[in-house]
Amino acid sequence: MKRYSITYQVTDFIARLIPKRRNVEGDSSAFIHSVLVFLQQLDQLQESNPRITLSFHSKDGLWVYLDGAAQFFLKPTQKFLLLHIFKKNKLSLSIGKVKGAFQTKRKVHYAECLWEIRQPEFLWLMNYATGEWTSLEVTSPTTQNSHPRYIPGIVRQLALTEFITKGRVCNGVYGRIKKHRISATTPIEFDHILPHSQGGGNTEWNVQVLCVECNRLKRATAQ
Ligand SMILES: [Zn+2]
Repeated sequence: MKRYSITYQVTDFIARLIPKRRNVEGDSSAFIHSVLVFLQQLDQLQESNPRITLSFHSKDGLWVYLDGAAQFFLKPTQKFLLLHIFKKNKLSLSIGKVKGAFQTKRKVHYAECLWEIRQPEFLWLMNYATGEWTSLEVTSPTTQNSHPRYIPGIVRQLALTEFITKGRVCNGVYGRIKKHRISATTPIEFDHILPHSQGGGNTEWNVQVLCVECNRLKRATAQ
């Protein structure tokens, strides 16, 4: 089952942070505890705010999306987390202003920044994400929790995980646009495969990821 695979991936994410040998410098259990608290906070944010969606991907780790755009991903290794961010997004600009933290930069290439983060940097990231995103407004009626078209967080998470795992393929619009692969920086939306107006539900079987363009075309041609 799909839900089972998400549980497996979260377990895998945490297990990869646990050192295999003893005598590893620092207190890894405190770090792992912080990571678990952070995952729980992100999960609560995802449930309360449809602008935020998570995805665990078996190779990369945790992807965090905001408003259909990838914000960062966290990849666990045995001593630290690797934080990948896209240059010039809000998070990368905020990190640029932090003095002292984030000095363990390992690699920077054209589109992404890659940082090794340990406990201090991780606590900064945790404060950043929960602080910046807790106050995000949910304005559209279609995204309010009580609205019948509201897609629960776990369903969005399953759809996003499947999308990333299968290589970021947008399913296109039947009869108009073929399936096509999109980049990690292309904005996405969550679509009801059978439209809500035709009885389509908010279940994992009826929700898919589409690129913003295809989703708009699908909505425009359905009416
Ligand atoms: Zn598309």
